[in-house]
Parts: sequence; structure tokens; C-alpha cells
Amino acid sequence: MSDEPQQGFDTLQVHAGTAADPATGARQVPIYQSTGFQFQDAAHAARLFNLEEVGYIYSRLTNPTVGALQNRIAALEGGAGAVCCSSGHAAQIMALFPLMMPGCNVVASTRLYGGTVTQFTHTIKRFGWSAKFVDFDDTDAVAAAIDENTRAVFCESIANPGGYITDLDAIAAVANKGGVPLIVDNTSATPYLCNPINHGATLVVHSTTKYLTGNGTVTGGAVVDSGKFDWSASDKFPSLATPEDAYHGLNFHKALGPMAFTFHSIAIGLRDLGMTMNPQGAHYTLMGIESLSLRMDKHVANAKTVATWLESDPRIEQVTYAGLESSPYYNRIETICPKGAGALFTISVKGGYDACVKLVDSVKLFSLVANLGDARSLLIHSASTTHRQLTPEQQAAAGAAPNVVRLSIGIEDPNDLIADLDQALTAATA
Ligand SMILES: *Cc1c(COP(=O)(O)O)cnc(C)c1O
Repeated sequence: MSDEPQQGFDTLQVHAGTAADPATGARQVPIYQSTGFQFQDAAHAARLFNLEEVGYIYSRLTNPTVGALQNRIAALEGGAGAVCCSSGHAAQIMALFPLMMPGCNVVASTRLYGGTVTQFTHTIKRFGWSAKFVDFDDTDAVAAAIDENTRAVFCESIANPGGYITDLDAIAAVANKGGVPLIVDNTSATPYLCNPINHGATLVVHSTTKYLTGNGTVTGGAVVDSGKFDWSASDKFPSLATPEDAYHGLNFHKALGPMAFTFHSIAIGLRDLGMTMNPQGAHYTLMGIESLSLRMDKHVANAKTVATWLESDPRIEQVTYAGLESSPYYNRIETICPKGAGALFTISVKGGYDACVKLVDSVKLFSLVANLGDARSLLIHSASTTHRQLTPEQQAAAGAAPNVVRLSIGIEDPNDLIADLDQALTAATA
């Protein structure tokens, strides 16, 4: 730990993890578009491979541009270290990878990004892992679901597509009692609105594709480690706390302490899974993060204005935005995300499936896009797109009933957003 006073978020988002380029003085982080990095000599190479000295070897593992982004995200989340990877979904696998073995399970919230539900329901089975989905408002049920094969508890801080905020402190206490780490997907909130580590999370995962980059240009992901979990307290995490055969018998926790998870993720996770972020992508995300707080304040203010207008509109049945006083999760904002409940929510439109399809066909300023967290306002009708394969019952459970449209509110003039929704709703419900 340095003796420097902790700088404010607005300073860290511009400066953390970066300095003028030592080779050229370039003030902006250069895009180090190089696959390999020259060793000083054979002894230097040996020290790097032994993790005795930190440096650059090969860009599947480490790269200076990606490294700057890793350090910046770690600083913004208050973590010991971070690893970036190729997408948010890659980050989720990278977070679970050091913890899980065949036969192990993760206890996960029923309220997760749809793609995560699919990944956890079907795809991780191929690794011999499984997920148990539980209602995270029922902490007793979460505690009961943790068994001797559980290796992590997983939820979102503000759950995509909005309307739900997790009581992170309560869930962290349950995970802690079960002797397993809490992993929080903080994509929808961003570190500006919520710092899960301050609420007891061990690992924080991000899809940097969304607000961190903020302009819909590149996919990316990150795993941040708090550095606070004692991997050696039980025999549950042999890959981190006993000699690891995959890295010539290194005991990561013993050798690297609070950086054990981060080094494991690079030295084994990126080395063998190869879900690497490229330096060009890291550069776009570094650019985006510089204005994160400014954008998030505007996203939140716009979301509140638009959601409030929609809630009072007779063509709308329901608006699920935790920033509205009518939300059952409104009272969690003060503790979990005091600067606001994000900018994603769903609306239920009177007129059902047909009206929703007409609505998404009639907008002019909003874009019909599967992405979210863009500077532009986006919307999608999940039942006819992302959740098309599901039964009506599954669609309803996923918050993607036929009459539901998901909105991702951008940073435009809110009056223009309201005018666009107004004309589209008129067309949809005529
Ligand atoms: C988009 C998203 C993901 C997946 O991220 P990709 O970058 O698309 O792989 C995971 N979690 C949440 C909450 C998301 O919004």
C-alpha cells in the first residue's frame, strides 16, 4: 500500500494505472501493438517465467496497453489486481476457472443477464461445473443452496435489465459463512455507481463492452480481485492454495499473497484459455473510462426523467426502474448505489406483443440493438429477439414477457428521448 492519499474517482478514472510513456514521453497510453517483448537476456526471461519479476513476455498473457487498463479498473474498484479479457462472458469463465473443478457448483441469482443464464445453465456443464439458481432476496435460500461442492456465489449489483438491486452486504455475509467467495457482475452499475468490494465481494466481473467503454465500439471483460479472500483457509481451492501442477508446482497463494488470483488468471487462465483482450480494444476502453463519471451522472439523470414520464403515461402498464419510488428496490439505492440506479429498465406496454413490435419499429432516435450501455439510447423487444427460443413461462421469469421492452437510456437530451418514445407509442397503440 502506498502512503499517498487516496485520490477521488474523477482523478483515478483519468490517471490510474498510467503515466507518460517511459520510452517516448507519449502522454496518452500508446497502443503497444506487439505480440512479443524482447528479453534482456536468458536470465531475465527465466525471472519473468518464474513470476519473480513482473514484465512482458507475450501478448496472450500480458501487454502494456492492456496492463494500463487492468490497473485502472483495479483502482476504480478498489481491488488488489485485475485481469482483462476478450468479453464479459470470457470474464465470467475466467472468474470461475481458478475456483472450480469438475463436480463443483456456483450458487447464482435468478436475476442475471440472459446470456449469463444460458452460459451457466448449459455451457459450463461441459466443464463438469453446474449452477444452482436461487432468489437472492431470500438469503436463507442462498445459504441453504451452498453445499460442500459450492465454490462461489454469483450475482449482479444492479441486475440487467434493471429494476433489481442486490443486497450485497447480506449476500456477502452468507457467502462468507459458507467459506466461498462472492462474485459480483458490476456491469450495469459500473464502479462509479457501486463498489461491490466495499460490500464484501471478493471478485468483481465486468463486461467492459458496456458503460466502461461507453460508445459501443469494442467487446471486452475484466475480473477484479479484492485480494482479501483467504484461499488457504479450507481445502476448497487447491489450484490457488496448493502446489499447482499447471505451473511447475507453484503455490500461488503462498508465493503471491493478495495477488494470487490475478497472477493465476494470467499465468494459467489467459495462458491456457486464451481469452485475451487486444491492445487496440484496451485503448478504446481506456479512452471511454476517462469520462465515466460524467457519462454515468447523465445516464442516471436521463433514465430518471424518462422513466418518470413513462410511468405516468396511460399507454404503459409498468416501468421497472429501481430509481422510481414505486420500485420495491428503491430503498436499497442509498446503501448499494447512492449515486443512482443506473440507466437500464424495462417497460410493459399495453397492447402486448404486437404493440411492442410496432414500438421498436417506430422509434427514430432510439436504436433497435442488442447492446446496452452505449452513449446512444437503445431498445430491444426481448421476446421477439434475444429470448425468442424460450417458452412464455421462461420469458416471464426472465423479465422478457411478450409485452416487455428493454430500454438502455443514453446521454442525449432527455426531451428528445421522450418525444421519440411518445411518437412511437402513439404509432404502436393506435
Ligand atoms: C453484456 C453483459 C454481459 C456479457 O458481456 P459481453 O461483453 O457481451 O460478453 C455480462 N453481464 C452483463 C450484466 C452484461 O450486460
